[in-house]
Amino acid sequence: MTAAAKVSHRRSTSMHSETTTAFSGRYSDGKTARSVPADVRLGERGIEIGFPGAPQALVWPYGALGTPTPLTAKSPDALITYEFMPGASLFVGDRKFAAALSKLAPQITSRAYGWRSARPWIIAAASIALVFAVLWAANLSPARWVAAMLPDRARAAVGEQVMKSMVGARKECVEPAGRAALDRLVARLSDASGAKARFNVRVIDWGLLNAFAVPGEQIVLTRQIITQSKTPEEVAGVLAHEMGHGLELHPETAIVRIIGLTAALELITGGGGTIANVGLGLTQLSYTRVAEREADARGLALLEKAQVSPSGLVDFFRRMGEIERKAGKSDFGLFRTHPQSEERANAAAARPRWPSTPAMSTEDWKALRSICATAKAEPGKVPD
Ligand SMILES: [Zn+2]
Repeated sequence: MTAAAKVSHRRSTSMHSETTTAFSGRYSDGKTARSVPADVRLGERGIEIGFPGAPQALVWPYGALGTPTPLTAKSPDALITYEFMPGASLFVGDRKFAAALSKLAPQITSRAYGWRSARPWIIAAASIALVFAVLWAANLSPARWVAAMLPDRARAAVGEQVMKSMVGARKECVEPAGRAALDRLVARLSDASGAKARFNVRVIDWGLLNAFAVPGEQIVLTRQIITQSKTPEEVAGVLAHEMGHGLELHPETAIVRIIGLTAALELITGGGGTIANVGLGLTQLSYTRVAEREADARGLALLEKAQVSPSGLVDFFRRMGEIERKAGKSDFGLFRTHPQSEERANAAAARPRWPSTPAMSTEDWKALRSICATAKAEPGKVPD
């Protein structure tokens, strides 16, 4: 504080001392433990603190006053601090003084405190709203944006949990020759995807006709998908489509929607650990038409890059379309998670063809067909 500023805080109170009520208070300069009695007046510009025998009063302008706790209309007393004299304080044990001061220095009232403590939150909320508005304008979903920020470790952990909750007690099909054949096909498509991690594809001994992607580049094919496929190109087509979902982070986005943005942000920051008990149903991992088109587009691009014919995908979805028509839409499987089979088969068929080689050797295809030969589910546990 400069000498000039110090001077400006002092002025003669002779004009006011007769016209305003004097309250008795105690003043402490904050440097010594002792407080001294003071005559306190509410002047024109600020609190005037007069000391017995001193010619001039100290003036604390109203705008620079503070209180450790906010003043209310019912405050029995007031403990005042002053911005430019840190440590100094004035105590006036009079409710009339407190009430009068709260009108002259509104920034020290509880209403002002409420607003001041709420302000950071309001600003934060407004910032988040702005971010979401920008995302909305950019046609990006917040859930997808959050999904893209999930660290690989969190995606893998969540994927593992989702996998467990969906697969349940059903057994994985691990017949070695079939497994090796599948690995070769997965590697071919996975490498074409340019994904930093290779997809982890599991076949589950499950009578339901379905295939789905879970977070962390993981895919589940049911035994029925393998047995209902007429060619390895059909399996390759289904796989490429599911990889498309994975590359577009559709499973992660679905999970973020289910657990909510707050829990997802905890996953991102690592504070949340794992998501406990996400009781996922198959329908919860079903996607919108837009997402299906994105997965189809990605899948077809993968097939092209891996030089696998898309005819399998077209044939598979066409056949599914027929079953869909006959069975109705109530079937709880691939049709539920992958609707509009026929429409999408037609879209895929309309694409120009590219040079291709067989998706699998005859031996590999034969081995894959019997990948579930030795899988035995625990009796009574599997509701196929
Ligand atoms: Zn799909």
